[in-house]
Amino acid sequence: MTPNESWKPLLEELNTQQECLDMMSAAWTADYRAHGGTVFCGRGCRECCSLTVNCSLTEAVALAQTVNDTQAQAVKEYAELLGKRVTPEMNLKEYLRLQRREMGWCPLLDEDGACCVYSSRPLSCRALLSTKESFFCGVDFSELTSEEKQTYAQSLDNSVTEFPLHYVAFTRETGREFETRALTLMRKNFGFSVYGAMPVLVHLVRYWGFAEAVSAGRNAAQAVVVQSGLPHPFLVDIA
Ligand code: SF4
Repeated sequence: MTPNESWKPLLEELNTQQECLDMMSAAWTADYRAHGGTVFCGRGCRECCSLTVNCSLTEAVALAQTVNDTQAQAVKEYAELLGKRVTPEMNLKEYLRLQRREMGWCPLLDEDGACCVYSSRPLSCRALLSTKESFFCGVDFSELTSEEKQTYAQSLDNSVTEFPLHYVAFTRETGREFETRALTLMRKNFGFSVYGAMPVLVHLVRYWGFAEAVSAGRNAAQAVVVQSGLPHPFLVDIA
């Protein structure tokens, strides 16, 4: 699927952002390691891939171009199931818990625990650098005892992380900044921005012509979201 010309400047900007974030992450990691710190991320380490992944629609457009038919089918099944399980009454905490406990791994994770779209993965995935073993990326902290929470908190390198997380704050902030810029560019181009659950957005682009609908305007975009049965603010946020 090839998006129309109106997406070209957004996709070019995204490409630059991805390269830039990767370079900044590599430089940050090298410096941290040179000063005795450890970043535990590596191939096959996948625990963070059970977290909720949000992205801008521009990232979803890039991903929809990258995935093959089998991967697109897995994304579709995941998005439709998520759409059925999320309820209007659900608050953010319940939604995040639903993703982690009931939805399982990201549909773009392969059987060997590697990301099938590594070079196109969202900024939010690129920005996650773990300063603790992968086990901690899969822990549901609400299930820890207060003693375990205390031990965990004491083990954090507070000079580089943002309590209570063990992920590097600098790369997360940079990733968020790039996402904000991508949404600003989208508003400049189309008059509104779209952000949401990555599998849902990729599914809408791949199977519902969402990129073209967004180019046609807000009403067309909203109509697609409603027709797809996925009109939930946690899934698709049109602003
Ligand atoms: S897109 Fe890739 S890195 Fe991100 S959660 Fe999915 S499998 Fe993991």
